[in-house]
Amino acid sequence: MSRPFLFGTNFKMNQTPSESAAFYSRLAASVTIPPDVSLIVIPPFTSLAAVAAVDRQGPESIWLGAQNVHWASEGAYTGEISVSMLLALGVDLALLGHAERRREFHETDADLNKKAHAVLGAGLRVLLAVGETAEERTFGVSTETVARQLKIGLHGVGPEQTGLVQIAYEPVWSIGAGGTPARPEDVQPVAASIRNTLAELFGDPGTQIPILYGGSVDPSNAGSFTALPDIDGLFVGRAAWTVEGFIATYEAGLAGRK
Ligand code: PEP
Repeated sequence: MSRPFLFGTNFKMNQTPSESAAFYSRLAASVTIPPDVSLIVIPPFTSLAAVAAVDRQGPESIWLGAQNVHWASEGAYTGEISVSMLLALGVDLALLGHAERRREFHETDADLNKKAHAVLGAGLRVLLAVGETAEERTFGVSTETVARQLKIGLHGVGPEQTGLVQIAYEPVWSIGAGGTPARPEDVQPVAASIRNTLAELFGDPGTQIPILYGGSVDPSNAGSFTALPDIDGLFVGRAAWTVEGFIATYEAGLAGRK
């Protein structure tokens, strides 16, 4: 069974509800999505209701994601959002463990494990972001770092839940405005180690978990990453924040797939 191709973007703390809804409806009207492809759009929490109200191509084609979620079902957690609140809006997926949340908001792998169980337990998809910092790369522990993030983040998840799991490999040194673009030869060895760890954790179902690459991807380099044997899609920031940029980067990535 071959793995699907996934392409997604995270708007981070950008866009009002009407801007996100306009993006989403223009994207849904202009993009062509083959049967084995899913797109992911992850606006801020405040845009989710407006985007969910847009007439989409259907959840199987364009998944609506949230940038974070709390692990508790309800309670005294001021400022947090629960899984049932996301479900009530028609959200399909929760992004967990983005490098900015790990760095700025001190999210630990153990926190992410509680979140992963809350999300998967409700039947929502998880996009778990992993990746080493520049310092970890310098010390030669990239594969150890992502293995630890996967083993703790997905601890106790059952093989029967892996159909809801996708991984974004985002080297921290390559993402965002100050990032250094990674080369395909930097990415493949770590992606292969992620694949091995997923197989170790889940057996055969683990080998079917899609691995997306993210970090300074744009139309000029998208195809060089999707041509890699262990990369099944792309997770893109800046280059995909316009509909034109999203489609150009997606099409370049799709064309590069072998
Ligand atoms: C990110 O921050 O997750 C990301 C992939 O950003 P960019 O594509 O802008 O490097």
